[in-house]
Amino acid sequence: MTVKIGVLGLQGAVSEHVKALESAGAEVSVVKNVEDFDGLDGLVMPGGESTTMRRLMDKYGIFDKIKDFAIDKPIFGTCAGLILMAKKIEGRKGPHLGLLDIDVKRNAFGRQVASFEADLNIKHVGEHFNGVFIRAPYIEKAGDGVEVLATYNDKIVACRDGHFLTAAFHPELTNDARLHEYFVQLVEGKV
Ligand code: GLN
Repeated sequence: MTVKIGVLGLQGAVSEHVKALESAGAEVSVVKNVEDFDGLDGLVMPGGESTTMRRLMDKYGIFDKIKDFAIDKPIFGTCAGLILMAKKIEGRKGPHLGLLDIDVKRNAFGRQVASFEADLNIKHVGEHFNGVFIRAPYIEKAGDGVEVLATYNDKIVACRDGHFLTAAFHPELTNDARLHEYFVQLVEGKV
């Protein structure tokens, strides 16, 4: 059976995520309002600006909906999406959704190297994955149950915690759909 995955359409490279998920075999829709979540098996939260995305989640009234959805449905967050999912954000009082036991640092690679590409080796996914980093966060600390999937310069840049998947980079901005394929398999309950 084909799984249905929603891409949060508030900000970021939404259509690129849609394309990558479709090429990975999922049925995809863009979600923005509470009723759009009906019938979805999984959700992707794109990059953008985490504080802006949070504001828009509140504006569209879907913040609590996503928290409920997260109880038993897989979510894949990239870049700002990862920040929104973290339990701890450096310099911020509380988390946003607070789904994963990770501590993140925003804009963590510094001003000089704000954007760059790196050749990554991603566990379960494969080697030579071109990671596109744009004012990216990194994961400073991952809790016990969290599986580290990729590092760059000793910093954690991708991980999985049960039905949650995160990447500090933008897998949707390359033509390599391997990470999206892995997420589709996760939604299918195969991995
Ligand atoms: N720097 C952004 C933030 O803090 C994330 C960047 C991105 O998603 N490309 O939300």
